[in-house]
Amino acid sequence: MSKDGKNRVYEIAREVGLKPQRLIEIMEELGIKNKGNLSIIDDETTKVIKEYIKELRDKKKEDETRSRKIAGNITIKEFADRFGIPLTEIRERIMKLGLPYKPTRRLSRDEVHYLAAELGLDVPEFENAEFLKSFVKRAPVVTVMGHVDHGKTTLLDAIRKTSVALKEKGQITQTIGASTVKIDGDEIIFIDTPGHEAFTEMRLRGSIVTDIVVLVVAADEGVKEQTIESLNHARAAKVPIIVAINKIDKPGADPERVKQQLADRGLLPEEWGGSTTYVPVSAKTGSGLQDLLEIIRLQSEFLNIRTDVNTVASGTIIESRIDKNIGPLATAIVQTGTLRVGDYIRVGNIVGRVRFMFDTFGKRLSAIKAISAVEIGGLPDIPEAGEIFYQLESAEEAKEETKLIEETLKSKITETNVPKTLEELLKGLESRKEKKLYMVIKTDTHGSLEAVKKAVKEIKSNIPIEIIHEGVGGIVKSDVLLASATGGFILGFNVRATAEAKQEAKQRGIEIKTYDIIFELVEELTKLLQGMVVKEKKEVVLGKALVKETFKISDVGVIAGSLVTEGRIVRNAKAKVIRDNAVIYNTEIASLKRFKEDVREVMKGYECGIGLKNFNDIKAGDEIEVYSSTEEEQ
Ligand code: GDP
Repeated sequence: MSKDGKNRVYEIAREVGLKPQRLIEIMEELGIKNKGNLSIIDDETTKVIKEYIKELRDKKKEDETRSRKIAGNITIKEFADRFGIPLTEIRERIMKLGLPYKPTRRLSRDEVHYLAAELGLDVPEFENAEFLKSFVKRAPVVTVMGHVDHGKTTLLDAIRKTSVALKEKGQITQTIGASTVKIDGDEIIFIDTPGHEAFTEMRLRGSIVTDIVVLVVAADEGVKEQTIESLNHARAAKVPIIVAINKIDKPGADPERVKQQLADRGLLPEEWGGSTTYVPVSAKTGSGLQDLLEIIRLQSEFLNIRTDVNTVASGTIIESRIDKNIGPLATAIVQTGTLRVGDYIRVGNIVGRVRFMFDTFGKRLSAIKAISAVEIGGLPDIPEAGEIFYQLESAEEAKEETKLIEETLKSKITETNVPKTLEELLKGLESRKEKKLYMVIKTDTHGSLEAVKKAVKEIKSNIPIEIIHEGVGGIVKSDVLLASATGGFILGFNVRATAEAKQEAKQRGIEIKTYDIIFELVEELTKLLQGMVVKEKKEVVLGKALVKETFKISDVGVIAGSLVTEGRIVRNAKAKVIRDNAVIYNTEIASLKRFKEDVREVMKGYECGIGLKNFNDIKAGDEIEVYSSTEEEQ
């Protein structure tokens, strides 16, 4: 400001960095009279003008941040990038919230705002009543999981009062993979594909359509291995769980024991002050089923699930098959919008037209509103379960999408699946918001499971470890699926992975780390977690042999008549005896013979007699793994 208390307009404009013309406009807004650039303004007024400009600028900045947070006209991918959420994570959430998932579609500002608010992101309150009116209450989608023979099929069957369980024994059922149950006018959709593997595979493809999991536990048998697996899968997917204690009609039924067993695993019953509802039922007599449905209804009300039926149709494929007369058929849950016969849809890399549809009662339909289960016919191929479908607007869009798919497929270089090592996982964690290392632990005995868990818990590290699943037995495919779904790895102690699990792990780039000595396990994990260089004791498997029969030879001991299935068996080499995917003994090859001849080694495809040092308990069906070990820096 000037010394004499008088300032010319152009001087002020220069000072505040505005064009004089704009400054004059602002002065007019403030009602300050002036005669253009050369007008003289006193200090007091200059101060008022400057303060006003500052206010304007602050407001503009605020508006900018607001609009940055809730900018409209962006695609879901852009939305995901903006808020730093992985696209795969957002995909399933979007449809659950009633917004269609269609990658190329641009979201309106209202949709972005609604989505952000529903996802709990940091945005201003959202109260566009008109927009919210398009969302209506919807039926919940329920998946029944649990141990084999605990009554999942019978329960579903009793619920929908058809006879799937009986038919299953004699013939292939004609169900469409989902059923709709009505309770006092409200609907519940049950997915008929029980089993956690299907559930996890769907999850891996990007969508869990399920809102609620019903965990079935037989009251007479209590919690079993697959009960725990199911529980862990549901947990990993963050889906609420209702426990149905089944078979309460049986003499040995002990519902309290089931509660105790599951309470120990974090499902504390409501009556004990927890938040899990346990419903005693009998799929056989039908007792408790009404209560179960009522609880599902209450839970879904609590979840306050809604959808928009007037938007683009989108949903999830839950099953598909080829009918020899009518071709590919896909069962889908329509989660948003309304799907009509004649609509073009894209699902995965398939673009097709809906030729006909059936509802869960086998009725032919011309249109179906979200949310509902439907069987779709007319697609040129069968889509995979878990794949998301969405409606295309026209034949032109269908053509464009087809072209796009062809181009992408052509240009796609075969990606090599680099295994995700533990180090890579740890490095990846650095950039993630939630720093947690997820692991699946499998061991040979309950005792060793407890020991490994204790050891893992005691490892001092800045990265919290979460055991997402634990169990006794070999590493199987579902362990890999679970690790993959959570971005974790698998730790095996004295166990091995099945061929199927190995294959799956390779494809998905999941690391399976196995140890046979607890001290090594702890040492290596500790070093890895503390970011230190690991001197890994690298075991190189030289070969494997399958024991066909055994012979007792006096003075020598038991000889395993074996077939070399992999690599070679070498005399004096270190060896492990593996039974049911678990390492039962660590020893050496003491003797190696081919037709009575002592030999140094035997190659794959040949039979031989193997004697093991200090071990005579060898049995037909066991596997002998021969290895050499070296120490090297990782
Ligand atoms: P899933 O493998 O879990 O689908 O089990 P199923 O539904 O096939 O049932 C396994 C067996 O348990 C069948 O023989 C059923 O008849 C029987 N079962 C199922 N629920 C009940 C029940 O509530 N009470 C009794 N007593 N038996 C049941």
